[in-house]
Amino acid sequence: MADEYDYDLFTIGAGSGGVRASRVAAAHGAKVAVAEEYRVGGTCVIRGCVPKKMLVYGAHFAEDLVDAQHFGWTIEGKRFDWAALRDHVQNDVTRLEGLYGQTLGNHNVTIFAERAMITGPHEITLASGKTVTAKYILVATGARPLVPEFPGSEHVITSNEAFHLEALPRRILIAGGGYIANEFAGIFNEFGCKVTIANRSDTILRSYDASLRDRLLQISMVKGIGFLFNTEFESIEKQDDGSLLVKLTGQDPCEYDAVMVATGRVPNTEGLGLETVGVELGKKGEIVVDAFSKTSVDHIYAVGDVTDRVQLTPVAIREGQAFADSVFGPGETYAVDHSCVPSAVFSHPPIAAVGMTESEARNSLGNIKVYQSDFRPMKNVVAGRNERSLYKMIVDAANDRIVGIHMIGPEAPEIMQAAAIAVKAKLTKADFDATVAIHPTMAEELVLFK
Ligand code: NDP
Repeated sequence: MADEYDYDLFTIGAGSGGVRASRVAAAHGAKVAVAEEYRVGGTCVIRGCVPKKMLVYGAHFAEDLVDAQHFGWTIEGKRFDWAALRDHVQNDVTRLEGLYGQTLGNHNVTIFAERAMITGPHEITLASGKTVTAKYILVATGARPLVPEFPGSEHVITSNEAFHLEALPRRILIAGGGYIANEFAGIFNEFGCKVTIANRSDTILRSYDASLRDRLLQISMVKGIGFLFNTEFESIEKQDDGSLLVKLTGQDPCEYDAVMVATGRVPNTEGLGLETVGVELGKKGEIVVDAFSKTSVDHIYAVGDVTDRVQLTPVAIREGQAFADSVFGPGETYAVDHSCVPSAVFSHPPIAAVGMTESEARNSLGNIKVYQSDFRPMKNVVAGRNERSLYKMIVDAANDRIVGIHMIGPEAPEIMQAAAIAVKAKLTKADFDATVAIHPTMAEELVLFK
């Protein structure tokens, strides 16, 4: 294809969406290059989902080793070594980064390990000064942590730095009440840090069902995590001993050893030359795209977090795949279906959900049925751990169709992945009832709702 241009496709950003799009476009026969200024793999692989999940596993041993005693095991001299876990995780991240690079290489995708900027309708200029042209440009530059501005904000860390800490902080304040705040609160708490979450509203995990949010809050507090609500930063002062004196509105000043900010993420759209070619941006700086990920400029597309649609890796991957298939493949153009996307919060215990919450369903459908199972998993009973799981099913009363499933409890995300197929396929409560339980499991609660 690329006679007139150096490349058929130039992708800016080798994260989940960019790598998938580049690889698939190349497999369809396109000549592809990708520019990445940091590390191939992007947020998910390098400083997001993947290393975070490894820390979650590492953290959970704290509870498992305590519970093990109730199952007859004696563990003498147990000790946690943060540096060992941190380094193992980073080694695996490096291995995965290599695999992502290899995949691109195997598909003859040229990788430029430098920043790229759009300097003309079809022209890209690399940090080295090299200029190339491409028929299509894909922007897949992701998002970065939003750090609110206030005196002393230079002393905070974000999730980016959390993976590389020299030592664990004895006392950590985490700002925000969303995914990252709750996941890292769980991780640090299990490692023995004194964790406090501070959020600007009185709600954690706003998009999740209220009963699950309440359950997580209650369990987190029992585990020792502190919560401060309706508060914002006034200032942070670094003291002579290295500790941070934090002033939050409506609170007494308090000392911490680290402050981590997890207050949402902003799309990476600055300095890309988007304005020079007329790519339209939204209010948060996100790239505005249509259902096919096309921007306001016909040959420029964008996928993933930079478009601020659904900030989840598997969604970015689907968007990248759909773009590459549609533009370079032999088949029809198709769009990604952004409805009914399952999600999970890897807190302790984790939350998983698909479809409408109870209040969303009440508002949009009116007549619904809510089934609930509030139970103590067998393992927790034997372990003497007074931690209850909560499963909820929301059904459209008009046609018995399941419109939402919500779970908090051990392995909830693993169970949800299969349950989400049923919700996506518009199965009914009767379909679940007709399915025989696997006993004894936690997941059987899903087919035993009364
Ligand atoms: P979230 O959107 O989950 O939560 C943001 C939190 O910060 C909310 O509690 C919000 O408060 C608060 N907040 C937002 N803006 C400000 C501000 N200007 N000042 C102070 N507080 C503010 O963001 P995260 O940073 O936790 O995560 C970013 C995204 O990454 C998530 O939305 C998710 O899509 C993705 N992610 C997914 C994970 C997963 O799938 N398991 C894990 C980690 C991240 P309030 O709600 O009260 O308004």
